[in-house]
Amino acid sequence: MRPITATIDLRALTHNLAVAQRCASGSKVFAVIKANAYGHGVLRAARAFAGAHGFAVIELEAAVRLREAGYRQRILLLEGFFEPRELAVLVDYKLSTTVHSPEQLDMLSALPAHSALDVLLKVNTGMNRLGLQPADAPGALERLERHPGVGQISVMTHFANADAPIGIADQVEIFDAAVGKDRPRSLANSAAVLRFPESHGDWVRPGIMLYGCSPFPESIASDLDLRAAMTLASEIIAVRDLAPGEAVGYGSLFVAHEPTRVAVVACGYADGYPRHAPTGTPVLVGDRLTRTLGRVSMDMLCVDLTAITDARVGTRVVLWGEGNPVEHVAEAAGTVGYELLCALAPRVRVLEKP
Ligand SMILES: *Cc1c(COP(=O)(O)O)cnc(C)c1O
Repeated sequence: MRPITATIDLRALTHNLAVAQRCASGSKVFAVIKANAYGHGVLRAARAFAGAHGFAVIELEAAVRLREAGYRQRILLLEGFFEPRELAVLVDYKLSTTVHSPEQLDMLSALPAHSALDVLLKVNTGMNRLGLQPADAPGALERLERHPGVGQISVMTHFANADAPIGIADQVEIFDAAVGKDRPRSLANSAAVLRFPESHGDWVRPGIMLYGCSPFPESIASDLDLRAAMTLASEIIAVRDLAPGEAVGYGSLFVAHEPTRVAVVACGYADGYPRHAPTGTPVLVGDRLTRTLGRVSMDMLCVDLTAITDARVGTRVVLWGEGNPVEHVAEAAGTVGYELLCALAPRVRVLEKP
C-alpha cells in the first residue's frame, strides 16, 4: 500500500474548540466545518466538536448529512441558499440560513408561512464580498420581520482584516450603525475570536483555529495554545546520490553544486501537496528537518538527505503536522495553512488518532 496518510488527532480538535470557547466565554460557538472541515472530514470533525452550540458550513449536502447523523445543534449555511427550491430542504432539516443579497430576499417569497426559518441577515461592512449594503439593512430587517415564514432574525458580518494591523474597528462601527445592538449578532472568525473580545457578540464563527493552525501570519498554532490536528506523513521510497552538476525532477530545477543525497518521497500534488512549493520548503525526515529539492510532481517529491545519514527507504517523512508546522510549509509555498489543509486529496488514506 502507498505509504501516505493523513492522521487526524481528534483530541487536538476538541482541545482547540475548548480554546475558542475559553476565548469567547460569553458567546456560543458555530464550529466552522465547511470544505469538508478544512480537509479533516466533516462527520469526523463534528464528532470531535459535538460540544459546540452549532456548526457552520457552505454545502447544503454537508448540513443534511449532519442532521441525518443526529446532530441537533443549530446548523448555519454561510452562503445561504442558491435557488428557491432549496428552501424546502432548509425548513425540513431545520437549517439556519444566511441571507446576504437582494436576490435571496426576493426568493424568500417562495417560503410558506409558519416555516419558522432561522435567518441571519449578512451586512457588508467593508469586505465587499457578500452582504447587503448597510443602508439597505434596516429595510431588509423590516421585510424579514413582516414575513410570516421567518422565525428568529439575527445579524452577521465578516471581517476582512481581523488578522492584520488594520483590525476591525471600522467594520464594527459600520455594523452597529446599520443594525443597532438589539438583535442576536455574529461577527468573529478565528482571528477575531483570538484578538478582539469586543467583537464576540452572541455567536462566534471560528474555523482555522479549530484545526490547530494560526490565522495570523506572524505566529504558529503552538504560540496560541492550539494543537495541529492533521499530520500528513509518508515515507522515503528511493534514495540516490547526485554528483555535482546533476539535476533532479521535472525541469531540472534543482542542480547539485556538491555531492547531494536525495530521497524520493511518496507525496505529490495529486495528494494535495502544493506544486508551487519551491526548493527549500521544510520537510521532516525521521526527527530531522530538511528541505524539498526541485519541482513537486504528481505523485512524488524530492528532499535533501545530505545531512541525514541514517535515513533510508521506509523512513517516515512528515510533510506537515507534528514536528513540521503547516504554517511554515505554507509560508515557504507562498500560501496559507487553510489552502494546504483543505486541498488534502481524496486518494490519501485518513487515519484517526483517538
Ligand atoms: C470560513 C468562514 C469563517 C471562519 O473563518 P476562519 O478564518 O477559518 O476562522 C467565519 N465566517 C465566515 C462567513 C466564513 O466564511
